[in-house]
Amino acid sequence: MKKVLIIGAGGVGAVVAHKCAQVPEVFGGIMLASRTKAKCDAIAAQLPRPIETAGVDADNVTELLSLMRSFKPAVVINVALPYQDLHIMDACLETGVDYLDTANYEPPDEARFAYKWQWAYHERFKEKGLTALLGSGFDPGVTNVFCAYAQKHHFDEMHQLDIIDCNAGDHGQPFATNFNPEINIREITARGRYWEHGEWVETDPLSWSMIRDFPDGIGKKKCFLLYHEELESLVLHLKGLKRARFWMTFSDVYLQHLKALENVGMTRIDPVEFNGQKIVPVQFLKTLLPDPASLGPLTKGKTCIGCLMRGVKDGKERRCYIYNVCDHEDCYREVKSQAISYTTGVPAMIGAKLMLTGLWKTPGVWNMEQYDPDPFMQALNRHGLPWTETFS
Ligand code: NDP
Repeated sequence: MKKVLIIGAGGVGAVVAHKCAQVPEVFGGIMLASRTKAKCDAIAAQLPRPIETAGVDADNVTELLSLMRSFKPAVVINVALPYQDLHIMDACLETGVDYLDTANYEPPDEARFAYKWQWAYHERFKEKGLTALLGSGFDPGVTNVFCAYAQKHHFDEMHQLDIIDCNAGDHGQPFATNFNPEINIREITARGRYWEHGEWVETDPLSWSMIRDFPDGIGKKKCFLLYHEELESLVLHLKGLKRARFWMTFSDVYLQHLKALENVGMTRIDPVEFNGQKIVPVQFLKTLLPDPASLGPLTKGKTCIGCLMRGVKDGKERRCYIYNVCDHEDCYREVKSQAISYTTGVPAMIGAKLMLTGLWKTPGVWNMEQYDPDPFMQALNRHGLPWTETFS
C-alpha cells in the first residue's frame, strides 16, 4: 500500500486531498499536513474515507524529517508555498521519498520565478534514485503537457506558442485572488517577459494586451502578457520554437484595485518598519483579503486555459489550440472548491499517480514536458479536466 503526504491545507491542498481520496487503488494511505492542523482536520471531515492529519512547519526540516520518518510516504505532494520547496526537497532526499510540486521555489525577498535552484538538485535526486516532478498544476503543469502532446502528435516543429489563461469566473468580491494572494500579486506586478528568437524580451508590467474570443460561451476577454515560469523550461524542450508568450485575463475592477494597492505600497515584498517591528506589506494585505478557499461557494462562471500553437507538420503550416474549460460551480459541487484550486489540485494528484504507478518515474528533477504526455492526457479526461483540440 503506497502512501502520499500532502503538505499545505489551502485551496489547492483541499482539492488534492479530495482527488487522492477518490483513487484508493493508488493512494492507499493519505496524510494532509500543514502549519495549522485545524485546517487539515476541517478538510479531512469533508472526505469520504479517513485520512491522517498533522501540524508541521515545512520550513523546519527537522520537524519534516520526523513526520516523514513516522508516516513513511512514497511521495510528497507539496502544495504549501513556493518558499518551502527546497526545504521539502531536502527532507525528501534525506528520507528517500519522491517529490512533486506545483510552483517553482521563490526566495522570499525577491520575485524571480526561476527553476535554477530546483534544477540544481538534479544530480542529488538521480544519485538517490528519487524522482522530483516540478510544476504539476495547471499552469505550469497541464500547459506543459499540452505542449508536449502537440509536439509529439501534431507538429514536426512548433514555432509559436501562446499560453492563455482565462478566468471568467465572478466571486462577487471587490478584490480577491483565486490562489495564494502573496504569490499571485508577486506574479502580476513583476515585469513581463517573453521569449523570441533565442532571447528574453522584457515589458513593463501589464503593458501589453490583446482581446481573445474564448469558447463555451465565455466570449471576448482582454488578456495581458505576463512572465510565467513554465516558459523557462518549455523554451529548452520544444523543438524549433521561435516565440513563446504567456497571457492572463483580468477584469478592469481587479486591475483598478491592484493599481491603487501598488501605488500606496501595499504590494511591496520587502520588509518595512511598523510600530517597532518589521512587516512585509503584501503579507499584511494577505491577512485582509478573502482566503482563496472561501471563494468556492461564491464563484460562478468558467475558466478556459490552453495553448495556442503554430508550426509545421509534413511541410505544411498548422495551427492547433488545446484547452480545458472548467466550471466553478461544478468544482464546488464535487470538492467544495473553486475552479482555480481544482485545476491545480487535479493535475497534482495525476502527477503523483503516474509517479506511484511507475509511468513517470526516472531518477532526477524533471519538468512536465520531459515525460510522455499520453498517460497524463488520458488521466485528465478521466479525473475531471477534459480537454479539446482544434486545428486550422
Ligand atoms: P493557500 O495560501 O490557500 O494555501 C497554502 C497553504 O500552505 C496554507 O494552508 C498554509 O498553511 C500552508 N503553509 C504555508 N507555509 C507553510 C509552512 N511553512 N509549513 C506548512 N504549511 C505551510 O495557497 P493555494 O492553495 O492557493 O496555493 C498553494 C500552492 O499552489 C502555491 O504554491 C501556489 O503558487 C500554487 N499554485 C499553482 C498553480 C498552478 O497552476 N501551477 C495555480 C494556483 C496555485 P496555514 O494556512 O496554516 O498558514
